[in-house]
Amino acid sequence: MRLAGKVAIVTGGGSGFGEGIVMKFVAEGASVVLMDRDEDAAARVAREARDKVRPITGDVSTLESFAMAADLARSAFGGLDILVNNAGVAQPPLPLETMDEGLFDRIASVNMRSIYNGARAVVPHFKSVKAGVILNVASTGGVSPRPNLTWYNASKGWAIAATRAMAVELAPFGIRVNAINPVAGDTPLLSTFIGSGEENRARVVATIPIGRLSTPQDMGNAAAFLCSDEASMITGVDLNVDGGKCI
Ligand code: ADP
Repeated sequence: MRLAGKVAIVTGGGSGFGEGIVMKFVAEGASVVLMDRDEDAAARVAREARDKVRPITGDVSTLESFAMAADLARSAFGGLDILVNNAGVAQPPLPLETMDEGLFDRIASVNMRSIYNGARAVVPHFKSVKAGVILNVASTGGVSPRPNLTWYNASKGWAIAATRAMAVELAPFGIRVNAINPVAGDTPLLSTFIGSGEENRARVVATIPIGRLSTPQDMGNAAAFLCSDEASMITGVDLNVDGGKCI
């Protein structure tokens, strides 16, 4: 088991990619604090995973939520080894000059500020034990943007830049920082980007060389590898989990 004995915080683990990451981590031997702002969703996933997952209701745009999650990791599981910044907010397609300030601020606080908050909460502990892994769930949009998703894509480009910068600064302390870039996924968030309906879905699938949407399991597999000791020489990368779309 790749993550035997490890303790992780996974944000947004109540649905979609985050749920896939939580379930894979548990299957690989980890214990998980699942932080989600949706209490019911977090509780449902925790029930499926039995005593290996502790749910906590929190909002990644606040430092206090991360501090509470880190405290829970230590009190419930006796440590903290991994932080996965997965919770994110999407935007509907629109011309860049028409996004209202409220949505822009939400994107900035959930997709960007969360990475800062998470670092504030876990890096002092990681430095004290000279080990730790941070994984940021970015997006193919951060490296290969399509029109009309500009501020979302820019927030994910920021997440990738933050990943590299953090990796370089934290490597001497034994802390690794990586990102994964999912392509459009088979998750509830997809309809925000593309609307609902089989036709919209088929149009997106046609742009992915491997010929399918990504899945929560795909993200779980990539995340488990990057957070495991098998990836001990890998830091500062953003791994495309995209069926060839970014090429
Ligand atoms: P994805 O395609 O990224 O997996 P989902 O909508 O399926 O998208 O899942 C995103 C998860 O993140 C949801 O469970 C949602 O409740 C959670 N989430 C969204 N925003 C926040 C936030 N600010 N704080 C904590 N969790 C959040």
